[in-house]
Amino acid sequence: MLEYPAAFLQRIAEQLGGEYPAFMAALAQPSRGAVRLNPLRPQGEAALEGELGDPVPWEPWGRYAAPGFKPGEHLAHFAGAFYSQEASAMAPARVLSPRPGERVLDLCAAPGGKSGQLAAMLEGRGALVSNEPDFRRAQILRGNLEKLGAAAAAVVCALPQQLAQRWPAYFDAVLVDAPCSGEGMFRRDPQARAEWSPQRAAGCARRQREILAQAAAMVRPGGRLVYSTCTFNPQENRENVAWLLERFPDFQAGSFALPGVGASQDGCLELWPHRIAGEGHFVALLLRRGGERADWAAPAAPAPEAKRALALLKGALPGAWHAPFAQWDLSLRGEILTAQPRELPRLEGVRTLSAGLALAQVGKGWVKPLHALAMAAPPGSLERVQAVDREQALTFLKGETLVTAQEGWTLVTWQDLPLGWGKGVAGTLKNHLPKGLLRR
Ligand code: SAM
Repeated sequence: MLEYPAAFLQRIAEQLGGEYPAFMAALAQPSRGAVRLNPLRPQGEAALEGELGDPVPWEPWGRYAAPGFKPGEHLAHFAGAFYSQEASAMAPARVLSPRPGERVLDLCAAPGGKSGQLAAMLEGRGALVSNEPDFRRAQILRGNLEKLGAAAAAVVCALPQQLAQRWPAYFDAVLVDAPCSGEGMFRRDPQARAEWSPQRAAGCARRQREILAQAAAMVRPGGRLVYSTCTFNPQENRENVAWLLERFPDFQAGSFALPGVGASQDGCLELWPHRIAGEGHFVALLLRRGGERADWAAPAAPAPEAKRALALLKGALPGAWHAPFAQWDLSLRGEILTAQPRELPRLEGVRTLSAGLALAQVGKGWVKPLHALAMAAPPGSLERVQAVDREQALTFLKGETLVTAQEGWTLVTWQDLPLGWGKGVAGTLKNHLPKGLLRR
């Protein structure tokens, strides 16, 4: 039997009453792994055949993993076909459900499970800003979004108050998946159990209010805010929601239901491990009263040098170029050609790790497509592709060359999933995977 803090158990017994024995019995069971399939890679499900179990009831792209599934070692993971995500953690983004075209902010975003889900829901239209104040974690977030091909996104590293000053009432939808006391993860995470104390949980509640106040300021009138934690602690959950509604009278509780979980009450819904197959989570939906969003800014005409760079890139990568990013604003900064959705806010003065899709590095008369483009190009959009088997894929991921019949920049794929760029020269496909991604 795992050790749980006595003060935690006492409070849970008060919260749950007659359900307490069922809760304790659930904690004695192993937790179930799950993955969220990436809808940008519809071919990915076939690559995972036999390794996934039942669907997650509240997330159409969610599947429980078969016992023994090792997500990190899978080639389909490298190719961004899925993201390993605890089932309950799929609920908050589903409640926010951004629609294509919306402006979305994920304020506490690393490592990026929910950001990846939000970006997929946008289908490349609108824009997601993913923020993480811890720089090392923000780098992981950037890498995860790149892997998933989430191009209509910017990754920034800032404290919420810095962003709220710059972007008041800018977003249609804001997610605050707040740092919390982690009670819902106790079954999986012995460190969360060891670090827990009532004082620490109270400290989390205070910090969450600070974050929530800034988040509320960035929701446009008529927009929505989802607040989530992975704790059962009412101070951090319902009491913080009540605090926000009192402090910001232009917000009201929204109502929603999640299949297999149930309906919200006063805008809030708890996911309990004895009622569902998932860990503990809390989700609240808050709606800002008011009107419609102002119209979009007019698209900026691309500078001639950016247009020339794009022409060079299209020449090097023949294909259909029908992806949403082909319509975005182009910019050439130094040697880097980027396409940015125009729904992104102004990023000047904000520490930015990526903004839109970095397409290519361009010099005088030469062009080198960047890895992010390999991961964001829609399946079937490029003409020059080298399909490899598992053994060749593992060779490629080590940074080695392959034999090829292709000349020029070529997308290397395994089971129709993108792995990265190679360049065919006289029968040899040179490896252009970024060094940081090589598997030794
Ligand atoms: N949403 C993430 C996901 O789905 O992968 C998990 C987020 S985790 C629960 C909370 C994150 O908030 C951590 O990465 C933490 O570094 C970050 N954080 C800590 N303090 C913060 C603050 N004051 N404002 C915003 N984020 C903060």
